[in-house]
Amino acid sequence: MRVVSIPMRTRFRGVTVREAALVRGPAGWGEWSPFLEYDTSVAEPWLRCAEEAAAGDWPAPLRDVVPVNVTVPAVGPEQAHTIVLQGGCRTAKVKVAEPGQSLADDEARLEAVRDAIGPDGKIRVDANGAWSVEEAVRAIAVLDRAAGGLEYVEQPTATVEDLAAVRRRVQVPIAADESIRRAADPYRVRDLEAADIAVLKVQPLGGVRACLRIAEEIGLPVVVSSALETSVGIAAGIALAAALPELPYACGLATVQLLTDDVATSPLLPVDGALRIGSPAVDEAALDRLAAAPDRIAWWETRLAACRLLQQDGRS
Ligand SMILES: [Mg+2]
Repeated sequence: MRVVSIPMRTRFRGVTVREAALVRGPAGWGEWSPFLEYDTSVAEPWLRCAEEAAAGDWPAPLRDVVPVNVTVPAVGPEQAHTIVLQGGCRTAKVKVAEPGQSLADDEARLEAVRDAIGPDGKIRVDANGAWSVEEAVRAIAVLDRAAGGLEYVEQPTATVEDLAAVRRRVQVPIAADESIRRAADPYRVRDLEAADIAVLKVQPLGGVRACLRIAEEIGLPVVVSSALETSVGIAAGIALAAALPELPYACGLATVQLLTDDVATSPLLPVDGALRIGSPAVDEAALDRLAAAPDRIAWWETRLAACRLLQQDGRS
């Protein structure tokens, strides 16, 4: 196992430095990067994802390229315009409902994004659960107009029950993201008919094959998203997106550029709005350059031992 520590370009979900463990197996490297605050039981499925990758146990791909979205943070309209033009993607995911901002700020951002992406581009918004049901119903109507049509709204409210309530009152499709964090969650979203789309992340849900099974069982279209991985972890997300029978939406896997550095010789950055399948070659020099401090490596080794113990208990 190697542990790297990579500064983020901008703070993201409270993270300024991303720590990731890379584990090597017979087929190469797998990424194990549960966020630091997660306990052993939450971190364990993430390890299964890394072990699956390192064992080379991914399902056969059905496509070679995976369309991805550009992500627009809660910035002003000029900056949003520039980000979309530079992103070169046909789909933009726009952050809305940022604390301290108004609906008018979101409207201005969406108008700028529509201007930059053109009439055929797709625009989705992500509220990260910030709205109440009433706020969501009102905001979605306003933002759908400002954007000239929204592809979908990601996690408008915090709870699954509220997602279901919003979904019954708006025409714009609803995607569940934060509501799906553990293996049982997608079934709850399905049973409450809380969403039209499921956002799946390979590490928290236990790997590519586990996600493929979930996708089949919940019967909802899937958008594969990252958990802020290096290129090694992103490759697992791409493997899932490539193996899904249907892939009607662009995926949220263009996130390597949020990190200031990467472990791959050729980082997985989008070309013409898409990522190509395959395992990136890991650069040994980058593993040295980005190596975490000895006390952090020791912390990850303890964490790994705890997860392995949990896995053994589960099997016995
Ligand atoms: Mg989201």
